[in-house]
Amino acid sequence: MTSTKIALVDLKRQYQGIAQELEAEALAVLRSCNYVSGERVSSFMKDFVQIHEALFGIGLSTGTDALHLALWALDIHHGDEVIVPVNTYIATAEGVSLSGASVVFVDHDEYYNMDVQDLARKITSRTKAVIAVHLYGQPAQLDAIRQVCDAHSLVLIEDCAQAHLARYQGHSVGSVGRVGCFSFYPGKNLGACGEAGAVITNDNALHERMRRIHQHGVTDNKYHHWEPGHNYRMEELQAALLHVKLRRLQDWTTKRQANAHLYNELLHNVTGVQCPREREGTECVYHLYVIKCQQREALAAHLNAKGIATGLHYPTPLHRQPAYASLGHKTGDFPMAERCASQILSLPMFPELTPEEISFICEEIKNFCMGRAS
Ligand SMILES: *Cc1c(COP(=O)(O)O)cnc(C)c1O
Repeated sequence: MTSTKIALVDLKRQYQGIAQELEAEALAVLRSCNYVSGERVSSFMKDFVQIHEALFGIGLSTGTDALHLALWALDIHHGDEVIVPVNTYIATAEGVSLSGASVVFVDHDEYYNMDVQDLARKITSRTKAVIAVHLYGQPAQLDAIRQVCDAHSLVLIEDCAQAHLARYQGHSVGSVGRVGCFSFYPGKNLGACGEAGAVITNDNALHERMRRIHQHGVTDNKYHHWEPGHNYRMEELQAALLHVKLRRLQDWTTKRQANAHLYNELLHNVTGVQCPREREGTECVYHLYVIKCQQREALAAHLNAKGIATGLHYPTPLHRQPAYASLGHKTGDFPMAERCASQILSLPMFPELTPEEISFICEEIKNFCMGRAS
């Protein structure tokens, strides 16, 4: 037993590096007494949209709201079907459920992203949209997915909650589909100090509709409501803090990638462990570093005993969650997702993780795999 403690995500280390700047910004917002719909949200979003190579964007309350807002503004509702991956955080499917449309699940490929052949099989006359999730920060196969969408006149929505700054064949994620949805939940690659999210798009009409709905159906005149909407606004405080962090995002992303490559190097010939692979032409941003191991439970227990935290993303595919039991799926419907769910293991991953820590983690994995686990 060692006293080393390595968290899955250590937000304290990030905070320590930028505490003075964050605290000064927070104080400035408090003293301004201007807490919503101000300059800070628009200024942050201007830069956020630009680094993702889109034309328009709206700062929002959460990533879940971003997904709901996109579907709402696209007039997707009861009677429609929307296709989503079965292995994702539940929010992707919840966005669809909130819209009133039916969730249709699709299995994943060896990169943990939407299986394009299964996608093609799931299309019906009621299908209106497809939500591609860039899971773990690995871009989904956007060109093939877009071809399927174009052939069937389906809207492509990108769930970029885990993939800020990721790229697919030279294009920033979020700007390939009609709309990109982001989350700034604290643990995401760009995280608020609370809840926040965003949508980006190159479609002016869609942007205007989303802008209207996210603030009670209002455009310019505060008390002229074009339609019943919702309140999905981002707070000024979160925008100010996110803006401080946005300046570091590229650097943090590079560090995540270096950490992933060091893991790959140290684990690549360890029998019993499979490292994540990068699809050709993608730039992965490693929100999570997920390995596969047949003895997942025993490996996790071994690492935890050595002071190394691990995670499961996700322990149960969505078709086997009580929340979606009404869809009537059974074990065997999504073979890849079911097989992976019992083998995946998320290792510590954050920019400030040190090479020494990664070496220590990999040594312990080797010890376990060579049967020397104690
Ligand atoms: C985090 C996450 C969301 C939801 O974001 P919130 O800001 O927590 O509402 C949606 N989709 C995926 C894939 C996520 O990881």
